[in-house]
Amino acid sequence: MDFKRLRQKLLLWYARNHRDLPWRRTRDPYAIWIAETMLQQTQVKTVLPYYRRFLNAFPTIQALDRASPQRVLTLWAGLGYYRRAENLKRAARRIVREHHGKIPRDWNHLIALPGVGSYTAGALLSIAFDQPFPAVDGNTRRLLTRVFNAKNEKELAKIARRLAQQAQPGRLNQALMELGATICLPRDPRCGECPIATFCDAFKTARPLMTPAGVRKRPTRKIDWPLVLIQSGGEILLRRRPSGGLLGGLWEAPGGEKRKEESAKDALMRHLNGLGRHVKSMVLVGEIRHSITDRRIRATIFNVQLRKRTAPPDSTWSWIASSSLQRHPLSSLTRKALRLVAES
Ligand code: SF4
Repeated sequence: MDFKRLRQKLLLWYARNHRDLPWRRTRDPYAIWIAETMLQQTQVKTVLPYYRRFLNAFPTIQALDRASPQRVLTLWAGLGYYRRAENLKRAARRIVREHHGKIPRDWNHLIALPGVGSYTAGALLSIAFDQPFPAVDGNTRRLLTRVFNAKNEKELAKIARRLAQQAQPGRLNQALMELGATICLPRDPRCGECPIATFCDAFKTARPLMTPAGVRKRPTRKIDWPLVLIQSGGEILLRRRPSGGLLGGLWEAPGGEKRKEESAKDALMRHLNGLGRHVKSMVLVGEIRHSITDRRIRATIFNVQLRKRTAPPDSTWSWIASSSLQRHPLSSLTRKALRLVAES
């Protein structure tokens, strides 16, 4: 393989074809760090409004460090994988305290920060600091697997390292990601428009749909997740999910996964944490569909009236004024449920 020629083709194609995205117009390591963190497992079009809002609210590491965790989560709500927001906040604290507010420029310090894995460290070092590190996201992984017929993670890493070991490593990494995202598509690669088709093993052997090395797709799970909206005197009773887990730190309407043998109402009684005995009426409002990572959720929504307004069952529950919901990080499922009730 002529690596030099391959690199030239990639860089030339990238110069002419890359999408004009806000994080490509900056060399600010902080802004690049935020973008690369948001882009993990998330599409560009989804990230764009979140990126703008986040940087408007927290334009510097110091601003992010000073912000309350609740405010950070509120701006992240809907983007998914909430551990990323918690880790950004924790990493900002470490950077301010241990690195004088500057993102470290070396691998060992970067990789020691909460939430920074080899992809983020490689992207930051190459894009923001011009250092010869690879950054292999899902798009690059698929592209390199096809071009080099890479059989495993080790082979892939070796190829990515070799490609980045030259001038302009940041642009090269971005060229690989961009080509993977826009031309070397998962199900329908546009080989006819590909600038490196003559280098590509999959194209030459007519096997472009080969599975990326090291990727094992998790099967999806279908889940029934009934939930209730309990409102009283302009307030709604919500509970906060434990931080660190799935949707950690987000506020949600009470409810939860239904067991196979249960009815939706029985499942709700189990999840209502003792509140069930105060229920006066439970009226079905409708049903919504929602996906969280590998879970495909069907949620039946009920409006619940209590016999009398009761104290929250424990400190993770709270009556929240409807007018202040905007300031709380709500789960997307709960937002959808509130919309459904408002429209019904
Ligand atoms: S030739 Fe086809 S399969 Fe090969 S890298 Fe280009 S788009 Fe992907």
